[in-house]
Amino acid sequence: MTRPRTAYTGRTITFATMHGKESLAHDAFQNTLGATVTAATGLDTDQFGTFAGDIPRLLSPRDATRAKARLGMQIAGTTLGLASEGTFTSGFGLFVENTEFLLFIDHTLGLEIVESSVTTSPVPGGRRIASAREALTFASAIGFPGQGVILQSTQNDHTTAHKNITRLEVLGDTTEALLKQRQSIVILPDYRAHKAPSRATAIRTLCEKMAQRLATECAHCRAPGFGHINVEHGLLCSGCGSATQAIAADIHGCGRCTYKARVPRDQAHADPEWCDHCNP
Ligand SMILES: [Zn+2]
Ligand SMILES: [Zn+2]
Repeated sequence: MTRPRTAYTGRTITFATMHGKESLAHDAFQNTLGATVTAATGLDTDQFGTFAGDIPRLLSPRDATRAKARLGMQIAGTTLGLASEGTFTSGFGLFVENTEFLLFIDHTLGLEIVESSVTTSPVPGGRRIASAREALTFASAIGFPGQGVILQSTQNDHTTAHKNITRLEVLGDTTEALLKQRQSIVILPDYRAHKAPSRATAIRTLCEKMAQRLATECAHCRAPGFGHINVEHGLLCSGCGSATQAIAADIHGCGRCTYKARVPRDQAHADPEWCDHCNP
């Protein structure tokens, strides 16, 4: 079976990552597009902020992914780039939400395409600890060392992140040493892609969506990357027929021209529960 030729067949795309994300994109980009994804070597993505909190994130996720992708392309001397950025938020402390952005740039065609996802992280957020035992209990509960942990110690408003601990013994010793120095300690999951299997899965899934999208052409201008850009609210109520806030259709668009396509959702009507008239 021969694969259909796409705009990116035989091309090399630079993933701006220090944490092995190119391996998460590899299969989808190879199988769907016939493209090779490689990492930019010598790139420091920590300058855009870290999960550990030692370097603040100053840019929005979208701006950060764009800046990372551009830097990776510059270092590798390519016109095609990828970058991703994740954020983790715990709304009410019960669930941690993982939002991931994956951004693709085709400099020559002037394309910038974003795929994003929101998933519930199976890994709980960080917590303050007061003993080595608590550190070990937290680490074991989240699947250490497969899932990494970071110790964040603070003294006199200065925070240091202790990363790359791979053994329980070292984790316990480091915690004890920091407590002896009267530092306050927070233990948190290491969300870097190579240390967080559940996040790696979310990024891999986004890479598959991105590859599919890049294999999809705009019906008007033939640019690659045609896909989901928005939703249209206003699904009609099954009770009274008025427009509700429920989603009626997805809007697909082109990254280069203004052509759009409206794709109605399967559901023809909204439940009156969502209607301002029937259920004010
Ligand atoms: Zn109604
Ligand atoms: Zn177009």
